Amino acid sequence: MRNAIVSDLCKSLLRPEVTALPPYDPGADPTAVKAESGVSKVTKLSNNENPLGISPLAMAALAEEICDCGKYPDPAANSLRRALAARLDVPKDRIIIGNGSENILELLCQAFLSPGDRVVTQTPRFGLHEIFPMMMGAYVDKVRPRHDFSFDASAWERALSSPTKMIMLCNPSNPLGAALTKDEFRFVMNSAARDVFLVIDEAYFEFAKGSLSFPDALEELRAQSRAWMVLRTFSKAYGLAGLRVGYGVASHSSVVDALDRVRTPYNVNHLAQRAAIAALEDEQHLRRTIDLIDAERHYLNCRLREAGFVVAPSLANFLFVDTGRPSDLVTRELLKDGVIVKGWREIGFESFVRVTIGERGDNDMFLEALARATARIPQLSWEHDKTAAVEFIGEKV
Ligand SMILES: *Cc1c(COP(=O)(O)O)cnc(C)c1O
Repeated sequence: MRNAIVSDLCKSLLRPEVTALPPYDPGADPTAVKAESGVSKVTKLSNNENPLGISPLAMAALAEEICDCGKYPDPAANSLRRALAARLDVPKDRIIIGNGSENILELLCQAFLSPGDRVVTQTPRFGLHEIFPMMMGAYVDKVRPRHDFSFDASAWERALSSPTKMIMLCNPSNPLGAALTKDEFRFVMNSAARDVFLVIDEAYFEFAKGSLSFPDALEELRAQSRAWMVLRTFSKAYGLAGLRVGYGVASHSSVVDALDRVRTPYNVNHLAQRAAIAALEDEQHLRRTIDLIDAERHYLNCRLREAGFVVAPSLANFLFVDTGRPSDLVTRELLKDGVIVKGWREIGFESFVRVTIGERGDNDMFLEALARATARIPQLSWEHDKTAAVEFIGEKV
């Protein structure tokens, strides 16, 4: 009773934008899964972490820097920004460091979005590309790929024909894994009015950049005088997810100045800053990571297709798989075998799971558990599939 009153009171005090926010789904906790399932090994393939973990050079840097943790970190992250500026050939004052690149997404929304603003992103979508704009009272329109996951130019053209404040483009897409080609990327850029703020989230850049048709957004946007920001992270290919560090490169230093006003001054801790510099220099670890992901993605993709699953094409360190069954049932069955993946809930994608590429043992564990799970759960009926397909096409028109 008392709780109910408190929660009513809280509701009446809350901003309506916050009441409407969907919760972020971080996925199951491995320790709890292990305790509940009783299996000897749990594999977490839900968060796109690097199976090789942290770079050895970064680990050595951490050991050295730990004694400096009694002091506040550099609020401007000067050394890391200098290292990135040299690496990327952009002035340091156009680079911002975040407590994960998610932090920069949040700052962009706080600094640039007002209630009623319109943001365009993709569907299926990365949760925070919708949650952060909604938090500011903006509304989010989502562009679907075609049924075969390919780029839908007319859907983009249509979406961008209405007034738009910001585009959040995830390339390669999380959760699809698929990337826009250079031509498709240019098509979206050219379809956007000059006053649209472009946010290109390249969290999986390092995995995709070896592909010839992949557009390096920094190269593509360098000569454009409009407002843009390209986001990258040390959480995925560099293996520093637990330290929380990512960066953004902006079209103008004034974008960084704006974000500096809204960010908490010591947003990136000392260890994260130092480890990121070391990770940037550890090209061997990055190479090993990319080679492992390339080989294992190919393996997992082939095995899944052989087993009859539809898999979206991927340049990233995960695959988006249509299980043909309700994803919440599939993920629950997988947990019993100690396998954690992310089940999708967005309309039109409720039978998909996103699985991170692991080492061979993890991937085999997933394949075996998936075979068992799908044998136990009846396939969605043809009627259901048909309705889903009609809705899917219907939404595009
Ligand atoms: C993982 C991810 C990020 C950022 O992660 P951080 O750990 O906050 O740097 C950002 N965007 C997408 C699409 C991601 O998948």
